Amino acid sequence: MDIVLAVQRRFGYVSDQAIDAIATGVGRHPAEIRQMVSFYAFFDREPRGRCQIRLSRTPISLMKGAGAVASAFADALGIAVGEVTSDGAFSLDWTSDLGMADQEPAALIDMRMLTDLTPAAVPSILEALRLQGNLASSTTDADHPRPTLPNESVRSRVVKRGPLLAGPTGGGTAIEAALRRSPDKVIEEITASKLRGRGGAGFPTGMKWRETRKATGTEHYVVCNADEGEPGTFKDRALLTDFADLVFDGMTIAGYAIGARQGLLYLRGEYTHLWRALETRLAARRSAGLLGDAIDGRAGFDFDIRIQLGAGAYVCGEESALLESLEGRRGTPRERPPFPTEHGYLGRPTAIDNVETFACATRIIERGASWFGGFGTPQSTGTKLMSVSGDCTVPGVYEVPFGTTLNALLDLVGATDVGYVQMSGPSGEAVAPKDFGRTLAYEDLSTGGSTMIFGEHRDVLDVALQFTRFFVDESCGWCTPCRVGTTLLAREMEKIVAGRATQSDVEAIDSLASTVARMSRCGLGQTAPNPILTTMRNFPALYEARLQPGVFMPAVELRDALRDAIDVQGREPVSPAN
Ligand code: SF4
Repeated sequence: MDIVLAVQRRFGYVSDQAIDAIATGVGRHPAEIRQMVSFYAFFDREPRGRCQIRLSRTPISLMKGAGAVASAFADALGIAVGEVTSDGAFSLDWTSDLGMADQEPAALIDMRMLTDLTPAAVPSILEALRLQGNLASSTTDADHPRPTLPNESVRSRVVKRGPLLAGPTGGGTAIEAALRRSPDKVIEEITASKLRGRGGAGFPTGMKWRETRKATGTEHYVVCNADEGEPGTFKDRALLTDFADLVFDGMTIAGYAIGARQGLLYLRGEYTHLWRALETRLAARRSAGLLGDAIDGRAGFDFDIRIQLGAGAYVCGEESALLESLEGRRGTPRERPPFPTEHGYLGRPTAIDNVETFACATRIIERGASWFGGFGTPQSTGTKLMSVSGDCTVPGVYEVPFGTTLNALLDLVGATDVGYVQMSGPSGEAVAPKDFGRTLAYEDLSTGGSTMIFGEHRDVLDVALQFTRFFVDESCGWCTPCRVGTTLLAREMEKIVAGRATQSDVEAIDSLASTVARMSRCGLGQTAPNPILTTMRNFPALYEARLQPGVFMPAVELRDALRDAIDVQGREPVSPAN
């Protein structure tokens, strides 16, 4: 991955020649490298613009004006989205969620993150890019980075801190506390706290660490999943910006507990702007004796952390796909079992946890399992970081105890006249106002943290269509139910949104959705129908209002579909009535 990332950065694309050279260098077949390169959104096989502008396209970004920003870029460059300027200087593309739902519209420009964009800001951004393009070949290099662009700023936006974030920001205290215990006792403490994975799946962390510790293998690994690609989530970005030591402490404690010497943090490519600061933190920790050999003076406890950048693939948030990507392949999910606890990174026992989970583990070892269990509910202990965006007064990261009602969270963020809330991203649930009294907890409204708020004036079905298209784009294509099924679902949904569907289409989409959910190989396909299924369940009247009477309507208006041919011929077709 690192080699291909470097080639892409240096040349703007990955040529056949580069693929052959990489294949020779790493001892793989060129076809393997070609396959891998073609998988990731941030790798190009053909030259694009020397400066690549990627605009975030999500329901939230479009609500906040991304369409107008795209038009401003397109007009100023004289190209449409998806094209390259004739001089090859710029390309303009849409891309999936950039993890900036709290500061949309956002864009990734040559892997630099720009936020809170407006059409008015576009001319000055392009002017700065042209100037820096001219400077690049002469006066800039890796040690002399280019000046900051207008709007090149990412705020961590932690609005409400609770017990997890209110204390010290890490840096060794918890490691000392861990080293006073045996590895088994550390795992016992984590188990007693009832900590569950914060990425959404909710697997008990203590059990995972125990399974990994007891699995046989010459090396064990700790992997931190910082590939938070679920649209609407950005709390891991905030943690890695302001609380990176809490996370690194947690990884180090996990390394001690499971008997690992190596940790890997898989950082989504969209968060490249965090990479340098995180490397600086790691270097500081090595200098302080918190990474490297004999950590904190404990002979025999050697542990270090490496950061691996991703290259734009939502499915890599799935742990087995992430492992494939870490090993330099396409991010295709693996068959399970065996689970990563036995057969993970490089086929060795591996504990993979989310960024927030490691931060929680640090606090538990620092303050004790019973302290942690004092927050939340009996089944869902502790607090949860919620990424809140959309139609509310103060978007950002909120730490709330499990057991908080959705209504209370909406009050906290200043959301009124709410039409519905998309919980846990597109793969989660569309929650209607009648259910706002539900509680945030694994036993009720289970959540990875993404909370997208849509006001009463928003088009629920159009949002469901956009989320379905997201899954079409992000399907890895390995299995047919997901690859084909998501496309068919999107087509059916387009028909409904356009008001061209009948009751039979709704029945067809319902049946297709359950087939995709049941037959897909991994979580992406299994949850891809959720935007449709949960809106059908919670907003049946909205679907009914869009339907046509009768049993069948064609998916397209024939005259519109034939428009090009009609224009060429210069005459309108004669209707049967004539
Ligand atoms: Fe790939 Fe989708 Fe199948 Fe998962 S369900 S393996 S993402 S095609």
